[in-house]
Amino acid sequence: MRRSLEDSYRHKGLRKKLVDTVKGKGIQNKLVLEAIHQVPRHFFLDSAFDDVAYTDKAFPIGEGQTISQPYTVAYQSELLDLKKGDKVLEIGTGSAYQAVILAAMGAKVFTIERQKKLFDENKSFAYLKQYANIKFFYGDGFLGLPTFAPFDKVIVTAAAPEIPPKLLEQMKIGGKMVIPVDTGDVQQMRRVTKLEDGIDIEYFDNFSFVPMLQGKNS
Ligand code: SAH
Repeated sequence: MRRSLEDSYRHKGLRKKLVDTVKGKGIQNKLVLEAIHQVPRHFFLDSAFDDVAYTDKAFPIGEGQTISQPYTVAYQSELLDLKKGDKVLEIGTGSAYQAVILAAMGAKVFTIERQKKLFDENKSFAYLKQYANIKFFYGDGFLGLPTFAPFDKVIVTAAAPEIPPKLLEQMKIGGKMVIPVDTGDVQQMRRVTKLEDGIDIEYFDNFSFVPMLQGKNS
C-alpha cells in the first residue's frame, strides 16, 4: 500500500466535517468525537482514497477486508463506555484505525488480526510507532489473548457467528463486549456485560461487517 502521511489544512477541515456528520447521526461521547477529530483517517488508506477518506464510508484495505465506516467506529467506541486506562481487546485490527481511535481515547489496546499481510502492513506503518499503548498480535481472535487477560472491554470488528466463549472468559466481571452477531448480510450490534453469574445482553442497531473467520491466514 502507498500511503501519504501528510496532514494538510484541507484534511483537517474535512475531518471537522466528518465529526459533524457522526454527531448528526447521534454520536455524543466527547472522547470519541475528539479522537475522530485528531486521527488522520487518510493515513490508514492507500493514497488513491485521499479525496474520499473523510466521507462516512467503508473502503477496501486489501485481502478482501475493509476499514470500517467512521460512524460504525464511533458507534462501537461509544458503546464500549471507556474509562481512561481500560484494557481493551480488539478482534480484527484491519487498518488499525479503530485501534488508534481507542488509544487516542486513553485505552490500552491489544489487537489481533488473522491476515498475515494486514498484520505485517501495520508493523511497517510509521505513524503507529507513537502509540506505545497499542500491542499488535497475529492470530485467531476466537482464541483471544489468555496471557494478557483479563480485559475491561472487548470489541469485535467483524461479524461473529456467536458470542465467542473464550472472549467472555477473558473479561473481568463487570466488563463489556461490543460485538456484531449474525451469519447473514446484516448483524445486530450487541453489548454483553459479564456478571458474577452469567451475562446480560443489550441489543442495538444493525450494521454490515466482513465475517469473523476461524484460524489464521498466512
Ligand atoms: N477494526 C478494523 C476493521 C477491519 S475489518 C479497522 O478499523 O480497519 C475486520 C477485520 O477482522 C479484517 O481485517 C479481518 O481479517 C479480521 N478478522 C476476521 N476474523 C478474524 C479473527 N478470527 N481473528 C482476528 N481477526 C479477524
